Amino acid sequence: MNKIVVQKYGGSSVADPECIKKVADRVVKTRRQGYKVVVVVSALGDTTDRLIKLASQVNDNPSERELDMLVSTGEQVSVALLAMAIHKHGVEAISFTGAQVGIITDASYTQARIININTKKIEEELKKGKVVIVAGFQGVTTDQDITTLGRGGSNLTAVALSKALGADVCEMNTDVDGVYTADPRIVPLAHKLDWISYDEMLELASLGSQILQPRSVIFAKKFNVPIHVRSSFSAKQGTFITKEAKAMMEGVVVSGITCNKKEAKITICDAPDRPGTAAKIFKALAVKEINIDMIVQNVSRTGSTDLSFTVTNANLNKTMRTTKDIVKKIGAGKVICDDNIAKVSIVGVGMKSHPGVAARMFEILAKKNINIEMISTSEINISCIIRKAKAEKAARSLHSCFGLDKKN
Ligand code: ASP
Ligand code: MG
Repeated sequence: MNKIVVQKYGGSSVADPECIKKVADRVVKTRRQGYKVVVVVSALGDTTDRLIKLASQVNDNPSERELDMLVSTGEQVSVALLAMAIHKHGVEAISFTGAQVGIITDASYTQARIININTKKIEEELKKGKVVIVAGFQGVTTDQDITTLGRGGSNLTAVALSKALGADVCEMNTDVDGVYTADPRIVPLAHKLDWISYDEMLELASLGSQILQPRSVIFAKKFNVPIHVRSSFSAKQGTFITKEAKAMMEGVVVSGITCNKKEAKITICDAPDRPGTAAKIFKALAVKEINIDMIVQNVSRTGSTDLSFTVTNANLNKTMRTTKDIVKKIGAGKVICDDNIAKVSIVGVGMKSHPGVAARMFEILAKKNINIEMISTSEINISCIIRKAKAEKAARSLHSCFGLDKKN
């Protein structure tokens, strides 16, 4: 039996007809090597952004069901075009929407969760020798409503299909040649990692490294799907993401630095200091499906306290509305929002066994005269909220001081 390879191509890899032809070349090459190939594609270039903008021009608070109906069209365009480009090589290929191949999700529009994948159709087409091209990012409810899986959701489609089909590897073909120690556009001295663990990748992805959607990494970790992040434009090996903790190099404390400028900080002033306050606030946000990132609450000396938390910018309006409502009910003071913040983080499994890493991070920021507004930590990451204007400087200093700069 031939091995199955799932190849995902992101929006920048299929940005225009020339790019699509190059992707077709690559797919055909893999097919001719004898693999059964399933391709997952994103929408062309910045199509999804443009569609979302279009929606906002007719309604500043569009229905999420209609939004999914709209943005899912992007991927339908790219799968069909890729199939046509592959046909030019005389290779059989067939494109499908998520609904057609039975990617069943719940009804949480714009953030739907995959419930089940029926692989029958894909397997039948693979058996006929065809390349199967599946629209990323989308699914369908049991009521036949179209859903999407959250921004970057084609990654999740690819990982989920890899698991369902028992693929050998899930290739994430993208515009970078692997996972870097930092975003090279921000930190020019960043270098490519040959290998990284799911846990570190998860931290990097959750912290705003835009290579992989966090949900796709969680899924891959849960089902142990090996991922290979590589460039769409070269044959070079990229970065493997796997479970096996290959011997971390002696002395490596920090594996990567991230810098996320897409968060906003909300502060509730004078929240009453009594049991149930935080529970009520965050319950209200949870009901609206708003993910909270950092939370900071200080001790109260006067019977009330300020409470700050961060959310992604995309959820800011919804968060402000919900927070203002709940604040009225619990009798807190005003609600302030600040989206001029950034979060810089250091990530590494090595920090579990090294003391003093946080102190070193704070010292590096202090030396650059960067004020820390919020701090949060996990076992393998330390994050600081700082002013947005200082984010890049902070990332570069941390990268260099933790010994990650590329050595030429
Ligand atoms: N086209 C969708 C987006 O831009 C899905 C994806 O690219 O993975 O978020
Ligand atoms: Mg995209």
